[in-house]
Amino acid sequence: MTRTHILGFPRIGAHRELKFALEAHWRGEIDADALEAVGAGLRERHWALQRQAGLDFVTVGDFAFYDQVLNHMQLLGCEPQRFGLSADEPELVRAFAMARGVGAGEAAGMHALEMTKWFDTNYHYLVPEFGPATVFGGIASERLFDEVAQAQGLGHPVKVVLLGPLSFLWLGKEKAPGFERLSLLDGLLPVYEQVLARLKAQGVEWVQIDEPILGLDLPEPWRQSFERSYWQMARNAPRLLLATYFSPLQENLRLACQLPVAGLHVDAVRAPEELTGVADWLPAHKVLSVGIVDGRNIWRTDLDAALGRLKPVAAKHRGELWLAPSCSLLHVPFGLQAEQGLDAELRSWLAFACEKLEELQLLRRALAGDADIEPALAEARAAIASRRHSPRVRRADVALRLARRVDGDDRRASPFAQRQATQRRRFALPPLPTTTIGSFPQTGAIRAQRAAHRRGALSAEAYAQAMRDEIARVVRAQESLDLDVLVHGEPERNDMVEYFGEQLDGYAFTANGWVQSYGSRCVKPPLIYGDVARPAAMTVEWTAHAQSLTRRPMKGMLTGPVTMLQWAFVRDDQPRSLTCEQIAWALRDEVCDLERAGIGMIQIDEPAFREGLPLRRAGWKAYLDWAGRAFRLCASGVRDETQIHTHMCYSEFNDILAEIAALDADVITIETSRSDMELLRGFGGEGAMRYPNEIGPGVYDIHSPRVPPIEEMLRLLRKAADVVPPGHLWINPDCGLKTRGWPETEAALANMVAAAKRMRAEL
Ligand code: GLN
Ligand code: ZN
Repeated sequence: MTRTHILGFPRIGAHRELKFALEAHWRGEIDADALEAVGAGLRERHWALQRQAGLDFVTVGDFAFYDQVLNHMQLLGCEPQRFGLSADEPELVRAFAMARGVGAGEAAGMHALEMTKWFDTNYHYLVPEFGPATVFGGIASERLFDEVAQAQGLGHPVKVVLLGPLSFLWLGKEKAPGFERLSLLDGLLPVYEQVLARLKAQGVEWVQIDEPILGLDLPEPWRQSFERSYWQMARNAPRLLLATYFSPLQENLRLACQLPVAGLHVDAVRAPEELTGVADWLPAHKVLSVGIVDGRNIWRTDLDAALGRLKPVAAKHRGELWLAPSCSLLHVPFGLQAEQGLDAELRSWLAFACEKLEELQLLRRALAGDADIEPALAEARAAIASRRHSPRVRRADVALRLARRVDGDDRRASPFAQRQATQRRRFALPPLPTTTIGSFPQTGAIRAQRAAHRRGALSAEAYAQAMRDEIARVVRAQESLDLDVLVHGEPERNDMVEYFGEQLDGYAFTANGWVQSYGSRCVKPPLIYGDVARPAAMTVEWTAHAQSLTRRPMKGMLTGPVTMLQWAFVRDDQPRSLTCEQIAWALRDEVCDLERAGIGMIQIDEPAFREGLPLRRAGWKAYLDWAGRAFRLCASGVRDETQIHTHMCYSEFNDILAEIAALDADVITIETSRSDMELLRGFGGEGAMRYPNEIGPGVYDIHSPRVPPIEEMLRLLRKAADVVPPGHLWINPDCGLKTRGWPETEAALANMVAAAKRMRAEL
């Protein structure tokens, strides 16, 4: 018998109901009961969908008002004490305090929990804080058990999902020097035992325990902790399905197969090559759950190919076979129902969460030899064929362009030192030049004009005029502030990826393809479905207009190829590296067009460069090679006198410093102020190398409206000057200013320029 299930479902709702309810609650418009009712309604609808699609269980425990890791902190009784909240406070109040911080509590240490990316996804979880004082107080929340009861009350067979103890500890952060969070395991396991016993008593037959860290390069003590943990937890538990996903198990494969659990889920999309090994190693009495439908992407499954992969496994594995998406569906949009605006052909190539449920059903029936589904299989086959042969997907001109690659096409004509001398003569900037990262405040007025334009209420010409006026205002403001290198402010851009994607061939946009990023925040990634090409210049007019208004250098502003790739759903019919190279060629043309239009400095933003790193170290080099080449391709079509900038934010760079240096941008700006310039240390050469080109470490945090005083920036500048030679140092904020208001922007930049002038006097 083959069963079907999912590891998790998007909780935000078909129409982002959860987002809107949360935000209304935070504004005080609806009370906690009303919010809970929205949550209960969403769960009920999502479970009903799972049952209608013929899944054998509904999955319970994937719901969260803010974040599932936060839910675990509450379930396991390990909320950090620093929030000073008594256990009498309602659970939701405590949860939102941890997630969002306590109002004026910044100083009192009640800032929100840190947020970080969930493995290599764009979902951000709240980071548990661990230290010597951490205790796991035993079951401290009834929420999970209430949700189980809700599902059971609706008549559903339930499979519960829990984040496993080792992954939970791994994902947390040590808050005391020298503390080792693995030492908390012995205190944590008894609470897992309690939770599992409670679920068993509730009549839950299966618990899926997620241990995605089995796909990482784990230190030996962590690996060795699995076996005893699972022996201990299995003592009085429902049947356990150990779930792994996102990357190959490799050296952990046998370990995963042999743990004392009743079943194993593997990601057959990210690691198809391991499926045979798993079928070999997994004892026959265990369930093998094959993650065969891509939970990270939006393409319709090639059912024939999937069956081709499943059949040998079904023949080999004598135990029960389950079919599932590769990972939780949290990472894909809700459903295609809402995408009536997409053209029918493109739409037929896609499967969002709801459609993936149907695919599981088809696969199960096809495996069972059910002839009734032939028409459905034929339809799916036709869609796959149409995608494979569509002239929109494969273009000869793009292929030809890539085939013309020559040695050195990703290298600037001269080495940095020579370019630097040429550029110094050309721009004659003062020492420690000041600049900004690109965007200026996206005011309500700008957004209203864009909305009016989209509705058709504002003509293209009137909209363009409004944007030109805004650019003029931004240029004037920067001149009055006496900044040295100006930007046009990006008022015409809704989003740094969408703006370019909309102008490139091969990209498409959904109406409602929202994916949760964190809390109530969602993103709507574009789809890259075909060969990427640039039909026309994208930024030249705006930038040239901005340059015409000032004698100071105007930086052109582009989003780099790696970020364009990373923040999209990418086609799965060719390697990501190839898609990235196509984008790079398209952007290279834009860079050259900007140069031709007289723009002397061009910034190619790559905030997502680091997050593209594979989960396992072994994959790093290959990624850094192609990602680095894509950036350089994009940047290398210009003359020596043209200065290429790049910008990266919120990243740890020190372990890939050589590769960042190899991008060979003339100037890099990075986010450093919140780390008190600590991030800069590696760039200064304490490690193996010194960063060779020019660098602008951010001197103030743009994430808050606070205006940092001159002295504070001066202190950071002195720290920066300790590691970066003055001739290489730029002065700028951490990131773009689009989320800020004008008053604090002008005040903060005025202080920044004042700090720069005082620093110059100290040189
Ligand atoms: N140029 C962009 C801006 O200033 C960069 C944004 C980013 O790094 N995320 O908004
Ligand atoms: Zn940034």
